[in-house]
Amino acid sequence: MVDFLVVGGGIIGLLITRKLAQAGVSVLLVDKQKLAQESSWAGGGILAPMYPWRYPDALNELVDWNAENFKQLAGALIEETGIDPEVRLGGVNMLDVSDDAAAMRWATQGVGANSGLYRREVGDFLGSEPLLRGSESTHSVLTLPMVGNVRNPRLLKALIKSLRQQKNVQILEYCALKGFVRKGAHVTGIETAQGPISAKECIVAAGAWSGDLLKCLEVPVSVSPVKGQMLLIKAKPGLLASVVLAQGCYLIPRQDGRILVGSTIEHQGYDKTTTHEARDSLLNAAYRIAPSLKDYPVEKHWAGLRPSSPESIPYIGRLEGFKGISVCAGHFRNGVVTAPRSVDILVNQLLGT
Ligand SMILES: Cc1cc2nc3c(=O)[nH]c(=O)nc-3n(C[C@H](O)[C@H](O)[C@H](O)COP(=O)(O)OP(=O)(O)OC[C@H]3O[C@@H](n4cnc5c(N)ncnc54)[C@H](O)[C@@H]3O)c2cc1C
Repeated sequence: MVDFLVVGGGIIGLLITRKLAQAGVSVLLVDKQKLAQESSWAGGGILAPMYPWRYPDALNELVDWNAENFKQLAGALIEETGIDPEVRLGGVNMLDVSDDAAAMRWATQGVGANSGLYRREVGDFLGSEPLLRGSESTHSVLTLPMVGNVRNPRLLKALIKSLRQQKNVQILEYCALKGFVRKGAHVTGIETAQGPISAKECIVAAGAWSGDLLKCLEVPVSVSPVKGQMLLIKAKPGLLASVVLAQGCYLIPRQDGRILVGSTIEHQGYDKTTTHEARDSLLNAAYRIAPSLKDYPVEKHWAGLRPSSPESIPYIGRLEGFKGISVCAGHFRNGVVTAPRSVDILVNQLLGT
């Protein structure tokens, strides 16, 4: 019997598996499909919450404002796998913010005191980001200087490759959790289409599906899907240095010059279809921020399902009233940036460290 069974191979489940495996215990990671095909793949990989002062402290406490854990993780993964997750710390610039005073209060007195958030001189910003000349949104700029973004599909690829090299990790794809094996309040494994699997401890890290999967235990885990559509523009290297947020839209630079444009917020259950309306509205917003993006083609359009939760605060830890089952889910729009600290909290609890 394995020590830990992790359900869900997104960023959360992969990092939980990695951390447990590093502690020397045996881990079985199961996913209903190929690993890392859902929200973690679809997201933008910004390493800060957008407009962080609008979130509760509990969420911001999961953020690392100088992206130290991402730098370390990327370095380790490059060494282990040769795959570079492309952590870029070019800063996050928020243009024409309406609640600037609240932002500065948060930056001086709140959880954001070590974020380095500051009001940037517009001319200085445009000097460093000439792509935004002619933008409708450059009356004011707030900058988070020490964060940036990670290329999440590469991060996931590197994590999977690294896990496949571990002797104490097993991976089972196309194995969906259908229910739990229980002795009263003691969860001793999961039910799957291929039969039951036993484990000393089960961890549900199934992103937007987690709320539905846990319903049969009648625990109050309120996690549900919120669709987000994204576009990828095939721009050229050197056009954009930092992540830029404005007009309800964001632009994220990739190392090869591509620029991601995100994202919609749609409450449509588990539907992941893309729409012309979303494409047009994202493109219009992007062109208002950076008019010359019109010169470059849209290469891809996709949608992902964010795992939403009340106030965007994830559920992390053992399920109250039960033995043998934990959850780490509900990271909504911030599941990449908050993944390392969320996983530390969970694994420390599980291993008693
Ligand atoms: C458009 C968009 C943009 C985003 N941008 C950012 C950003 O810039 N920065 C940021 O930090 N976050 C961002 N996010 C949010 C972030 O992507 C998520 O919070 C995070 O990926 C959640 O990770 P997860 O592992 O919990 O879920 P997921 O990545 O969705 O993984 C869940 C896994 O569980 C599996 N699963 C589901 N049901 C079962 C079952 N029954 N049995 C077995 N396996 C199952 C799925 O197949 C999947 O592999 C964005 C999300 C979207 C959609």
